[in-house]
Amino acid sequence: MSYDADNIFARILRGEIPSIKVYEDDETYCFMDIMPRSPGHCLVIPKTSCRNILDATTEQLSACMVTVNKVANAAMKAFGADGATLQQFSEAAGGQEVFHLHFHVLPRYEGMRMGPAGTMGDMDEIRENAAKLISAMG
Ligand code: AMP
Repeated sequence: MSYDADNIFARILRGEIPSIKVYEDDETYCFMDIMPRSPGHCLVIPKTSCRNILDATTEQLSACMVTVNKVANAAMKAFGADGATLQQFSEAAGGQEVFHLHFHVLPRYEGMRMGPAGTMGDMDEIRENAAKLISAMG
């Protein structure tokens, strides 16, 4: 399977469509999922081309995991989360819908189930959660 340079996350990286940024470094970008399955749900992606876990390089994986670690800890602090779930889907059969490698970071709360996929979030609330995450990143 090849990489489609016009996938939505590649377009976000090029600034062609907006995103709600949480964090970036030289190799990775983190932004809010617009259909959050838990309060604070965000996505970590490499800045370089990669379809999914199957073609990822060691460098892309390492860089993403460093950012996942930062963001997950920030979420614990920002939202008083009780834990975190990390998800990654590869290929359509694996549940992937956007074909640029991404890791879902889902802050989790005691007694709260993950919400359904595909439900648009409240954008004001998502922006507020991004601001909380950013200030917790320090
Ligand atoms: P998947 O490929 O199954 O891991 O799902 C793609 C994820 O990207 C879903 O959780 C969507 O809610 C999310 N998503 C799709 N378009 C955007 C966008 N423009 N900005 C932020 N998140 C998005």
